[in-house]
This record gives sequence, structure tokens and C-alpha cells, in this order.
Amino acid sequence: MNQDSTDCIQFAPLLQHTINNLGDPFSGTGGHLESFKYERKLVKLMADLFKLEEDNAWGYYSSGSSISNLQAIYFGNLKNGKRNILVTSEDAHNSVEKAGMITQIDQTIFLKTNAKGEIDINKFREFLSKQNHDNRYIFCFCSGSVCKGAYDDVPQLIEVIKEFNIPRENYYLHLDAALGGLITPFLKNDPLHLDFRIKELDSMTVSFHKRLGIPVPGSMFLARKSNMTFMDKMAFVEDYSSFDTTIPGSRDGLSPFITYVKMKALGKVSLQRKTSEVIEKAQWFSKELTKRSIDNFNNKFSPCVYFEAPNQSLRNEYHLPLYKTKSGKEYTHIFTMEHVLKSELQKFLDKYSASINKAFSKKTVNHYKVV
Ligand SMILES: *Cc1c(COP(=O)(O)O)cnc(C)c1O
Repeated sequence: MNQDSTDCIQFAPLLQHTINNLGDPFSGTGGHLESFKYERKLVKLMADLFKLEEDNAWGYYSSGSSISNLQAIYFGNLKNGKRNILVTSEDAHNSVEKAGMITQIDQTIFLKTNAKGEIDINKFREFLSKQNHDNRYIFCFCSGSVCKGAYDDVPQLIEVIKEFNIPRENYYLHLDAALGGLITPFLKNDPLHLDFRIKELDSMTVSFHKRLGIPVPGSMFLARKSNMTFMDKMAFVEDYSSFDTTIPGSRDGLSPFITYVKMKALGKVSLQRKTSEVIEKAQWFSKELTKRSIDNFNNKFSPCVYFEAPNQSLRNEYHLPLYKTKSGKEYTHIFTMEHVLKSELQKFLDKYSASINKAFSKKTVNHYKVV
């Protein structure tokens, strides 16, 4: 999470109002006071960013990407009808599995990932080769995984779907870009194309709090409207004059406004600069770990560095999570966002080295029983 939200103090006067974006920002009328106009502007801005025609974009702002992912699985069920197999990966965010449970999905498949955290294409092929031809699927792939910052190779995964001639109407394709969504559009030379240029893509999830620096967590669910034909048939809620398209009823109307203003104020050029800065910082940190013989890797185009975990007191001090690998090794990660200063990373490296040296000398003493 980018903690750099000091500039948002300018929005403080708006706290004297209750802004409720109740229901659908396109078809609804909202609460007494709403910011639908800005929410729709933000949907269009994100559609532009992800190469979806503005008039074919539908979406809304929610309190976080777990909700956006749930919206995707819900829509997948509506589009395909019941009895879907949710296909995602073992590195997917926990909200994907949970969304399957909430919607009572028939079955959830967690495809194996490679060491970098990307779906193993051969495992996907192997899985599909054992399925019935008329199965229905919700595919949920990832742009920027939560543990290793990995980008699934979606174009190649789609090639595999095509190899098996799965009819287009038998699957829904969602991209969880909670993390990668505000990284990939700002990479130099546009190397990844993880957006609606993928013709088969139905919807995306993008978080704002992870990269942008906003005071309240927020996410967008963005869908290709022409594929959401079931939306015309959704019930009309008389209580608040809206088609019942969104999972939440009442929604925070202040955040889409803040997010829109901040996206506009920063603009593409500074987002490109910020993106390359956080990625270069990750590359630097990864090299420094390697110099100290600490096992690590940094996925290409990612501000995430995955590395051998230090001892518990350092983990606690720096709020580092603990990941246990299948072989029993302990890893952690750091995202080198704006507030993670190089000088702080340097201090962390010094402490980490000192803790290794201390552990090493202790061991030596014990081993040789030096008195
Ligand atoms: C953070 C994250 C989420 C969930 O986001 P919340 O806003 O915490 O609900 C989902 N998917 C990925 C890949 C994430 O990194």
C-alpha cells in the first residue's frame, strides 16, 4: 500500500456531508447526495487506461478488491448460468476462493504456479484435457499477485483455451489486477497488454489504495458492458430507484471523487515516473539482498521483492508477513512503494545482516564449545 496520502487533507471539508452512491452509478439516482457523475468519469478514465471503449464500459467503485472480485464471480455465474467451475491459481488472492464459496460455485480449481508465481501453462493444459466439452468456467487470472507480484501470461492461457475449442459462451474471463492495474498501464513501452485489448476479457478488478495514495481503501470493478447481457434483466429496486446490479447498496461517494481528482492531478506522466521509481527501487533492493547472499527474487515489472525471511523480531518491526514454502523454508516480501524510502531499506538491510552475523557467531560458539 502506498501510504502517501498527505495531499488528501484538502478534501477534509467534504467530511461535513454524507455522500451515498446508492446502487448503480449509471442507471440509479443515488442517495440524497451522491457523486455518481464523478464515479462515472472515473469508470471512463479507467476504461481509457485499459483500452475499453468508453461507451462499452460499466463499473463501480467499491470498498476494496475483495468486493470487486466477488462482483466478478457473481457476474460470471449470471452470464454462464449455474454449475460453473472456477479456475484460478494457488497464488490467487484469498478473496477469489471466498467469492466462489459465497456464490456456491460447483468446484474451484487452484492451478499450480511456477517459482515466479505465474500459472503453469502446462498444468492448465493438463487440467483442460481432462474436462467435459460442455463444462462452464469462470477463469480468474492475475495481474500482480499478492505474494510475489506475478503477472499471469493471459494471452498464452487464452491460446490454451482455444486449443480445446471451449465455446466463448461457456466461459467468463476475469482479471484480478488489484495490484497490477495501476502499474501495467504506466510501464515504459507498454510491454504487458493486461487489459481489454484481450478480446476475451469480460471484467477487471483494480485497487486504488495500493498504488495511488488515498485515505480510504477503494477498488473498481470494470466490465465490458456488451458482454453483460443479463444486466437488463436485473431486478429494479424501488426503494432506491436503481437496477440491482451492484453487490453493495449504500456506497461511499466521497472516495470516487477523491480518486478521480487524484488520478487527474497526477496524470499519466507522473504515474509513469512513480511506477518506474518504485520498480527501480525494488531492483536495487533485490541486488542488495543478493550481495548479502539472501535468497530473493523480483518479478519483472514489479515493485515486489520476495526474499528469505529475517528473524521474528525484525519481521514484527517491519510488519513483514511470513510465507512457508512446501520445502519448509520461510520467505517474506516487501513492496517498495513511495513511502518505503531507500534510506529505510538500507537500515533494514543493515539490521538483517547484523542478525545473520549474530546468529552465525552464536552457532560457531556452540559448535566448538569455545570457553
Ligand atoms: C490486495 C488484493 C486483493 C484484495 O483487495 P482488498 O482491497 O484488500 O479487498 C485482491 N487481489 C489481489 C491480487 C490483491 O493484491
